[in-house]
Amino acid sequence: MDKEDIFRLAKNPRFISGIYNYCDRWCERCPFTSRCLTYAMEAEDNDNPAIRDLNSEAFWNKLQSIFEQTAEMINELAEEMGIDLNSLDMESASDDISLQKAKADSHELVIAAICYGKMVNDWFESEYLSFKQKEDELNTLLKIGLDKDSLHADADSIQDAVEVIRWYQHQIEVKLKRALAQDDLFDAGKEDTILRNDADGSIKVALIGMDRSIGAWGKLREHFSEKTDSILDILLHLDRLRRRTEELFPQARSFNRPGFDTMN
Ligand code: SF4
Repeated sequence: MDKEDIFRLAKNPRFISGIYNYCDRWCERCPFTSRCLTYAMEAEDNDNPAIRDLNSEAFWNKLQSIFEQTAEMINELAEEMGIDLNSLDMESASDDISLQKAKADSHELVIAAICYGKMVNDWFESEYLSFKQKEDELNTLLKIGLDKDSLHADADSIQDAVEVIRWYQHQIEVKLKRALAQDDLFDAGKEDTILRNDADGSIKVALIGMDRSIGAWGKLREHFSEKTDSILDILLHLDRLRRRTEELFPQARSFNRPGFDTMN
């Protein structure tokens, strides 16, 4: 897809402007695929296998097109934020970025989110056999003719819960880091509306990930009642992270994500 194709697509009024900026990128489960420009662009590219072939001209044309779009986006952002890209002091800019990143990486929310990610991995690793046993149990019940629909519903419910937990497991940390890296926000007197909105939008996506993960752990607890203690440890940790995030970003919940929060 070249620039002209993108402009042609972007002009289509069915697309919701900026909807992809504050979504969770779970397109398979997104109700707005038909209204998302990013999804439409990716779908058009998927129809052209040459784009994934390193030896084809289409691959390099695509890369050039992404470069041009990205450069354009950087120019627009710099203009909005009043940054002069030509006079950028590279040394101090890279120092600033490193400092912002280091501050975000060591922030209590990020540390707690990393810890959550690890707890999830540990739990699934240690409970591998429990899932195997549950599968055997459901198959045995199916064989002896117990309510088929209800057994399938149980299996689907477990699978859904696992998928939700796995989808957001690391995204929570990524979104928190993105918000926290907007260092200017936390520098009194340098309030910036664009950065504030971006941070709140990212935090809202992280919070939604936490809400959904909490719901999914709740579901798993119903199916694996004998694992209540270990699930409860994870739930308590995640709930503390959620509460602390809300405390530090009190405006994030009311951020209106284009499409998701603005459509009736
Ligand atoms: S808005 Fe929906 S379809 Fe578009 S990128 Fe995000 S998840 Fe995918």
